[in-house]
Amino acid sequence: MIYYSLNKQAPPVSFKEATVLGQAPDKGLYFPSQIPMLDQHLISSINDYSKEDLAFRVMKPYIGSDIDDTALFSIVSEAINFEFPLVAINSNISSLELFHGPTLAFKDVGARFMSRCLGYFSKDRSNTITVLVATSGDTGGAVANGFLGVEGVEVIILYPSGKVSPVQELQLTTCGQNITALEVEGSFDDCQAMVKEAFMDEVLHKKMQLTSANSINVARWLPQQLYYFYAYQQWADKFNPPVVAVPSGNFGNICAGLLAQVSGLPIKHFIAACNINDAVPDYLRTGIYQSKPAVPTISNAMDVGNPSNFVRILEMFKQEFTTVKDCVTGYTVSDEATKATIAEVYQRNQYILDPHGAVAYHALENYLQNYLNIKGIILETAHPVKFPATVEAAIGKSIEIPESAQSIMGKKKISIQMPASFSALKEYLVSR
Ligand SMILES: *Cc1c(COP(=O)(O)O)cnc(C)c1O
Repeated sequence: MIYYSLNKQAPPVSFKEATVLGQAPDKGLYFPSQIPMLDQHLISSINDYSKEDLAFRVMKPYIGSDIDDTALFSIVSEAINFEFPLVAINSNISSLELFHGPTLAFKDVGARFMSRCLGYFSKDRSNTITVLVATSGDTGGAVANGFLGVEGVEVIILYPSGKVSPVQELQLTTCGQNITALEVEGSFDDCQAMVKEAFMDEVLHKKMQLTSANSINVARWLPQQLYYFYAYQQWADKFNPPVVAVPSGNFGNICAGLLAQVSGLPIKHFIAACNINDAVPDYLRTGIYQSKPAVPTISNAMDVGNPSNFVRILEMFKQEFTTVKDCVTGYTVSDEATKATIAEVYQRNQYILDPHGAVAYHALENYLQNYLNIKGIILETAHPVKFPATVEAAIGKSIEIPESAQSIMGKKKISIQMPASFSALKEYLVSR
């Protein structure tokens, strides 16, 4: 598979180069030169395939011959080696739980897939690949856990001091080995600005092979398609496909879902569910796209003012507003409505939503009111225990910490403090 830069000012590359580079030299995002069409048998007999087999068949065309089949099969198998259960909340809405991975959020699959691809590619390289990533919470943990112990790859995570939850901080700072946490005295935007500057810096560019590990990177973005296949596998009424509501921030997850749909997976419609950071829902209402400064909310993984993957969505629909609008409906959900939804769903159905899943639930419930006989799925992107203050206040009781998170609680945090300045980051990187 060939990938081209959406800025069209850089040469096309293979999957391997796109993964190692992260972003194209012209700062564009990479996009597949053609969207592979799924084998009809795969769809009509989807329940005959194992999770691993399905993952291999879906991913293979995007990787081509850059990874041999045996290695690719084990990479996808390791990336998805936990459950993705579809749980009915009530008669109309089910929850696809994407939080059963090691860091309790959906980013685990993309981070695990990307780390193993980079590990594979680094075998025939002499120099180490350095992954530099800024996090507002969930990305850092998933990347730290996914890349831990991968040879030939080192990971440097920047996070805003005091602005991530206690569980999130432990997930970032207790790994050791090839993972380093930089605790920045500033905001998430400061961390992101420092990382962006590092990618553009000539001195660093000559000294090391830097790459990104957010959904800009095709190896993190593409495997997210698999969720939608697992949802459809578990969907009983195959002739009446679901509406899927996706809690969206940087729009990588929903963009992967749209890719699966374009390649032939039956999904009736998509809901882009946002908190008040709603540049895309605004676009879907008006046809005009305008980024906004990010505003903090209780669903903080979606506090993004200018979603990176929006340009990929436009490309997928050939820049035609009406086609995008036919496939995706946007919703804006306030913090008040999010809290009320967590409380209501718990009281009515004894199901505990996290704030991100609650945004999706609220949007989907509103959408379904306009239609008879249509049912839907929300993607539950994080375990509620990652947001204990909000969730416990809404449901009026404490939530149990799952076993997988308990082991981290007693560990010692190790981080390097750093002022919010690029020169401090550069000095650190050069002096290593
Ligand atoms: C990252 C994240 C999102 C947003 O996903 P995007 O692909 O950036 O749209 C939603 N929920 C949770 C819990 C997340 O960690």
